[in-house]
Amino acid sequence: GGGIAMNAGGRWGEMWNQVECALDPDAEAASSERDPRLVAWAGVSLPGLVNKAAALGLSGFEGLVGVPGHVGGGIAMNAGGRWGEMWNQVECALVIDARGEFAELRRPEHAVGYRDGRLGAHVVAGAVLRLEPKSALEVQALTRAYLREKKDAQPLSERSAGCVFQNPPKDRSDGRSAGQLLDAAGCKGMREGDALVSAKHANFLVNAGAARSADVRALIANMRRAVLDRFGVELVQEVKDWRRPEPG
Ligand SMILES: Cc1cc2nc3c(=O)[nH]c(=O)nc-3n(C[C@H](O)[C@H](O)[C@H](O)COP(=O)(O)OP(=O)(O)OC[C@H]3O[C@@H](n4cnc5c(N)ncnc54)[C@H](O)[C@@H]3O)c2cc1C
Repeated sequence: GGGIAMNAGGRWGEMWNQVECALDPDAEAASSERDPRLVAWAGVSLPGLVNKAAALGLSGFEGLVGVPGHVGGGIAMNAGGRWGEMWNQVECALVIDARGEFAELRRPEHAVGYRDGRLGAHVVAGAVLRLEPKSALEVQALTRAYLREKKDAQPLSERSAGCVFQNPPKDRSDGRSAGQLLDAAGCKGMREGDALVSAKHANFLVNAGAARSADVRALIANMRRAVLDRFGVELVQEVKDWRRPEPG
């Protein structure tokens, strides 16, 4: 489960106490003027976080609109886009280490990478997120504008896992994104079984019916090869590939 609370204090225990205070709408309004921070537990949905921040007039996550998943996954992946990335707003992540002990990863000391929260074996329990207070109308308008833009450019209503590949370093791709390289390499419409490359965005692979994991893997390999052959750029997969261990 998860929840979002306003006005993060220095200690997690104190913050949790403030969750109760924050349930009073007046307390939320008052605290947002003092302290534009949210505590979000790992199980909070990313769309829920975007909506809550917009309703409270807290800016920073407008561009995260349309991204499914949860705060824990967003922090692990350092989810982001043209607008920025999740860790830009993370002041501190509460994590559990391999021994079951709680630890805190604080910015800026904790270094993160592109689509990589660099968690190692840590599991995210929650985070203190620092946002910028603005008017709720302004944050909501920007959120809607991002959503319109994404609906035009991405197959948001189809079954996909988001972008298949990371964007390559700009100096190795003439500044072109993975989607632009895949498009120019003729990948749109490529198909393996029911897995196909979206006609809307060449870096999205959609399930047109009953695609199997073998179809998806074969199509990803074909997409990667098309870009390598055409541009000499080796794309790195963003989508995680989980395989069942071989028996025995
Ligand atoms: C339509 C669509 C649009 C998308 N747009 C974007 C986008 O614009 N930008 C972007 O970055 N991504 C995008 N994605 C991909 C995805 O939504 C994000 O990466 C999201 O952050 C994944 O969150 P999740 O909770 O589903 O994590 P999962 O996919 O379940 O997990 C992702 C990784 O995080 C790890 N993880 C999950 N929870 C935790 C935790 N609590 N502690 C430690 N590790 C954990 C998992 O082990 C896994 O390695 C999109 C996906 C779709 C389908």
